[in-house]
Amino acid sequence: MLVTTGDLGLCEEVVRPLKLRTAWKPDSRTIHSLDVGNFMTWKGPCLECGIFKRNGVGLFCSNFLRQRGPFPRCLAVWCGECYRAHPQDPFRVQTTLHSPGEEEENEDLVTEERLALRFKTARDGDHLQGIPFECDLCHFRNVNGRDPVPRNPKDNFTLLCIRRAVLDALWSRETSTVSGNFRRLQRDYHASKSTLSIAQPVPVIGTNKVKDRVGMSCALHTMMAMLQKGNYQETAQWDTARKTPTWFTNAYESGENFGEEAIYSTHDTKVYSTSSPTASRWFSRFMLGSKRRMGIMRKQNEALTVEQLMAVCELAEKDWRTSQSEEEKKDIENVMAFIIIGFCVSLRGEEVPLVAIEGLLTFWDETRSHNPPHTMITLKGRFKGENNLRWHCVPIADITKSGIPTRRWISRLLDRRVNREGKRAGYLFARKMGERLVLGITTPCLEII
Ligand SMILES: [Zn+2]
Ligand SMILES: [Zn+2]
Repeated sequence: MLVTTGDLGLCEEVVRPLKLRTAWKPDSRTIHSLDVGNFMTWKGPCLECGIFKRNGVGLFCSNFLRQRGPFPRCLAVWCGECYRAHPQDPFRVQTTLHSPGEEEENEDLVTEERLALRFKTARDGDHLQGIPFECDLCHFRNVNGRDPVPRNPKDNFTLLCIRRAVLDALWSRETSTVSGNFRRLQRDYHASKSTLSIAQPVPVIGTNKVKDRVGMSCALHTMMAMLQKGNYQETAQWDTARKTPTWFTNAYESGENFGEEAIYSTHDTKVYSTSSPTASRWFSRFMLGSKRRMGIMRKQNEALTVEQLMAVCELAEKDWRTSQSEEEKKDIENVMAFIIIGFCVSLRGEEVPLVAIEGLLTFWDETRSHNPPHTMITLKGRFKGENNLRWHCVPIADITKSGIPTRRWISRLLDRRVNREGKRAGYLFARKMGERLVLGITTPCLEII
């Protein structure tokens, strides 16, 4: 929207802030015609476009009619599509069709048009999807116990983030699910109303408590983590951001609200009860919605072919033979043994560093005289899902069918570690002090090849 700034001939584009308060002043008769316990009787003008919403159709704050604490009624209602993300919303929205959500839902084909609206606007009936929908102002009051100060940058940015968090939580459900649920509710409600006597025909929504029941303050921290710089993309990945609720829950459980109750279940597991808002259904929906919004970008290593590996072996052999520096030779041995073991045993990158010297030595001679000669790759470590340190042994042929010289490279490195560095135990791939190599340290070295 262009508005005149007051300076002669100058117009500036002004971002209109979100409308959070209604200008509507209903008379007491109108207020009395609305039933706080029956959201289907609610009506009022949309905060954005002013169209009058009737019969509970639209997006109503669940506290619509409640005077909570010192605050007046919010009377907040929107047309679903009028509840939009802030025009300056900086949060990333994935723009491809791929949905990383794990939930099984029948997602219909997403058209281009709908794709443009995904995560950006709400839908009619979104306030009745199993989690409380409170308007931005109500959330702000819950978190801060006061009203936002106009033109206060911190308050305004908090409101922007609240809007995003609410939209994320709503978008954990697809549009077809939301509209299907709401249509069915309307049909049943009107059918029953004309034929049945039910004093309380719909459940009561909203709360008089001015309290962050859903975990909004933790959601706000999490949103900040989402804006931090990421490795592969401009902003952090969802996987990184989800660590924020972990510290929040840990701190919560360390504090005055520590849950004393435990529910014992089979399989040696205990289930603990917690009152942490991060355990709320709203919070799970927020995390799921934000995951869907951001998408997950995986950087996968291209699989290495046998031909490529053979070519690498050839190059490395030449470099190793011509190298004058022992340090360089050691680097080449490390990389080659790493790649060969990873390739031949089909280990994941983080498992290769678990190869241990004492295991290799135990089988070294015995396996060489065996027919066919092979090397026993011995891994020592704590494997996923296991509690103890364990040995895993996998044999590989000394020279594979395709001609990969496995023993040659493993033996070069092993010789260096055992005979020159005097190691009898510990990890084969080690930095100094017997520390185990971690993946991040190896990869830059591998990328050189
Ligand atoms: Zn509207
Ligand atoms: Zn409200």
